[in-house]
Amino acid sequence: MTGSCHIVRVGGKRFLLDCGLIQGRREDIERNRQPFPFDPKSLDCVVLSHAHLDHSGRLPLLVKQGFRGPIYCQNATADLCEVLLEDAARLGEYDAKRQNRRLAKKKKPQIEPLYRDKDVQKVLKLLVGNRYRTKREILPGVTIQFRDAGHIMGSTSVEVWLEEDDKKRKVVFSGDVGQYDSPILNDPEVIKQADVVLMESTYGNRLHRDREETVQEIGEIISEARHNKGNILIPAFAIGRSQEILYMLGKHYDEWDLDRWHVFLDSPMAIEASKIYWEYPHLYDEEATRMRRAFNEMPKLRNLHLSRTADDSKSINKLRSGAIIIAGSGMCTGGRIVHHLRHNLGRRENHVIIVGYQAVGTLGRRLVDGADMVKIYGEEVRVNAHIDTVGGLSAHGDWKDLGRWVSNFESKPDVWLVHGEKEASAAFEKTLRKQYRINARVAQVGNTISL
Ligand SMILES: [Zn+2]
Repeated sequence: MTGSCHIVRVGGKRFLLDCGLIQGRREDIERNRQPFPFDPKSLDCVVLSHAHLDHSGRLPLLVKQGFRGPIYCQNATADLCEVLLEDAARLGEYDAKRQNRRLAKKKKPQIEPLYRDKDVQKVLKLLVGNRYRTKREILPGVTIQFRDAGHIMGSTSVEVWLEEDDKKRKVVFSGDVGQYDSPILNDPEVIKQADVVLMESTYGNRLHRDREETVQEIGEIISEARHNKGNILIPAFAIGRSQEILYMLGKHYDEWDLDRWHVFLDSPMAIEASKIYWEYPHLYDEEATRMRRAFNEMPKLRNLHLSRTADDSKSINKLRSGAIIIAGSGMCTGGRIVHHLRHNLGRRENHVIIVGYQAVGTLGRRLVDGADMVKIYGEEVRVNAHIDTVGGLSAHGDWKDLGRWVSNFESKPDVWLVHGEKEASAAFEKTLRKQYRINARVAQVGNTISL
């Protein structure tokens, strides 16, 4: 997956829209080490759509190579970036250390981590928080405004007005567009006017399962696990998914008889991110606002335990039943969920609820695919627990959501599909042309779009 990164040139000034990390296989990740196709020192500023690493994760590299301009983003994004980028630096430093031990044995030269915490700290000082729906002139002839994209807390679509030699153009950058009717967050905002739209198409070829069905399924799994006297494990991304699950547990607390359970949020990063989520109540949708007012807190979970330390986490292993454990990583590739899986997979009274996408080659994917045995910490573990996959909780809109968002434009702009895997973009291009009569094209890496 390519990290989102677009350069805009106007009136002799240059700025970036997003500066994302390239993620995926090791050879893809290595591409992050290649120099930028521009001089970071020559940039005047950066506009950041949201905190996810595939949009923000190369900002520390930009700063490491001399960029010192402002980075404009939504207020909540500035807070979430601190959590995400510090974690990314920590993981990078840890990973480099591990690789270096191996390289030392082979007498090969050592590698440097992509960036360190000190680079992240410099980025955090450059972040300039903004509110939604407030115009700001960021450069002579360039004005921006953030609109809610409904994807994660603080996520935006960016309106950009450009003025050069009496010519005026408006570009809208979609950022990542969320699902309509997702918990906590508002729906993606309607934008009516643009000359050109740069748009993501991550799930341009997919349709999510119905959300109500998903909620009902989770309720049924909880009651079955209660009947079986087991535990429930939920691998979840620290930002977004963990908060949605807490919110749903709070919303259905009585209906799902959760007084009989202990809920553990077993992830320091998710605990930090949750604090930020609950600190921005003015960004909630109507239902979340009502819920917060009714209970005076978010979420209303009397039996929620926040486990910060490794010892907190290990002590959960003593519980044979009645525990709902939310932990990362989302695809079970590392983090605390792995030791919970080791302790719980062997017993048939336990349940694992898979709520997010599981990439090929991950432990989470092997569970979804029905493996009888999996390897954890080099040990074979038998899978006797129930593995329940529920769809419908994605932070990304499906093709219908994306189509709905882009058909709000009354000005019939040209649409460039910029962020998404090949098949998804190609399929979505077709859908936009045929079903929505929109002039859409897939942009390639390195493309120049002249306005
Ligand atoms: Zn995102």
